Amino acid sequence: MSFKKIGLKEPILRALQQEGYKEPTPIQKKAISSIMKNKDVMAAAQTGTGKTACFALPILEILSNQLDKTNIHELNALIVTPTRELAVQVHDSIKSYGKYLSLKSVAIYGGVSDVNQKQAINKGIDIMVATPGRLLDLYHQKAINFSNVKILVLDEADQMLDMGFLNDIKKIDKYLPKDRQNLMFTATFSDPFRSLVKQFSKNPIEISVSRDNETGKNIEHFCHPVDASNKAKLLIHLIQQEKWNQALVFTRTKHGANRLTKKLINARITAVAIHSDKTQNYRTNALNKFKKNHIQILVATDVAARGIDIKNMNQVVNFDLPSVAKDYIHRIGRTGRAGKSGKAISFVCNDQQKLLREIQQLLNQKLPMYPIEGF
Ligand code: AMP
Repeated sequence: MSFKKIGLKEPILRALQQEGYKEPTPIQKKAISSIMKNKDVMAAAQTGTGKTACFALPILEILSNQLDKTNIHELNALIVTPTRELAVQVHDSIKSYGKYLSLKSVAIYGGVSDVNQKQAINKGIDIMVATPGRLLDLYHQKAINFSNVKILVLDEADQMLDMGFLNDIKKIDKYLPKDRQNLMFTATFSDPFRSLVKQFSKNPIEISVSRDNETGKNIEHFCHPVDASNKAKLLIHLIQQEKWNQALVFTRTKHGANRLTKKLINARITAVAIHSDKTQNYRTNALNKFKKNHIQILVATDVAARGIDIKNMNQVVNFDLPSVAKDYIHRIGRTGRAGKSGKAISFVCNDQQKLLREIQQLLNQKLPMYPIEGF
């Protein structure tokens, strides 16, 4: 089924063609037409499966048809994301897919001044992408009017729950009109996610892409046994020996991210750390530089890297294994996106066997161990 057959209008098709999208991904094939029929949908899809377009495209289609009739810009679609980076990224996608339409959109997130955000809202907008904190803040300041919202998207809902946003989501639900379409995206259909869905929607259509796709069968896993004191040396060795173009490297702590970044820079490797102690502008800047290939290594903590989409990322490194097995899936979702191949490389210390077993159980797959000489 092509994007045209799904029933998207010409200006959207033209934008997709320019993005280089030839045909819908499996989750897009399943979700877009249901959403265009105004159905509630709950979908299990990792980042990397093309899930943003799943909700962005039908929203653009529905709202542009409406705008043609009313010619009024009012807040009709609200997309809530767990992190600022993801809000910016989803908004960028909406702008790209909707560049030949007259819809107006804005990204609302904390860590930066709210002046520009308020100005944009005042000019009239159709679509808002927001993180929960700043969204509620502006709503309480009466800067946002929710009364025309017809579509709510919860993006990466399980991560929002993990990050403690349940109460904020409940408040947002309470403030929005009851009669609306709900689209709920998550990495996995976890129990907390299912109970959240129950509060939001009576009979949502359930969509999931196969497990193979979720964990990315195009991703190769490599584990390297190494002493904690040798990890930085091993990373530098791999970067140089294997001539990596770029890599995203995960550390467990902010401190660890800073320390590792310094060591990389000392070894003349361009590297930047992003974590919650860095300002939002710093993080956005670092991410942009990385995306433009001006920086070789991006070192990040889990929270800072959630949901970020980096094209052509060949390797993700677990410098420290994640302390929660589920985060392994979130992390490796940064590589092997949209069908491309990728490597997930993990440094495993002797005392981390239990964690490794938990990850293997979750993936239902044994991760191969490759000792490297000298380490
Ligand atoms: P997402 O899962 O929304 O983060 O998307 C992952 C990546 O896949 C992004 O870089 C998208 O631009 C890309 N993408 C989404 N849909 C398609 C498609 N139908 N064809 C090719 N690439 C796509």
